[in-house]
Amino acid sequence: MKPKNSNASISNSVPPNSKNQAQVFLKTAGLRNTAPRKMILDILINSPHYHFSAENLYSTLKEYGHSIGIATIYRVLAQFENAGLVTRHQFGGTTAYFELTQPGHHDHLMCLTCGKIIEFRDDEIEHLQKEVANKHGLTLTAHTLYIFGTCKDPENCLHNQDKQ
Ligand SMILES: [Zn+2]
Ligand SMILES: [Zn+2]
Repeated sequence: MKPKNSNASISNSVPPNSKNQAQVFLKTAGLRNTAPRKMILDILINSPHYHFSAENLYSTLKEYGHSIGIATIYRVLAQFENAGLVTRHQFGGTTAYFELTQPGHHDHLMCLTCGKIIEFRDDEIEHLQKEVANKHGLTLTAHTLYIFGTCKDPENCLHNQDKQ
């Protein structure tokens, strides 16, 4: 049931209480409750630490029996991004990944072989970035840090798991 290049365990069913949550999120964002918006938001709420590409969402929706066109998914994601509901990441490539906007800051590690995305927050790195900015006469207001690499343990690399 996992979408390709999955980076976190995604539960197989959308819990019923998340339906109300999606409606509340849409209302707060000032967006009308439409079926595609709610279905996509349900999935994002259900996997808050997961980073979805439009293709990931397309296949996940399909697994739930919802057939929503890829163009609609892109349009809804753009609306969600404008409303601040989701955060877009490009991770240095051409594919855009979307996650539910979370309170507080986190950075990302990405395996270039399998596309696995890991979230982290390191106080020392946060502090050092402030110091570096300071040293160069800048007051730090925001930063985006992506660390790229390859899974150290080949057994854990999703690329190899796909082949089995
Ligand atoms: Zn994230
Ligand atoms: Zn990997």
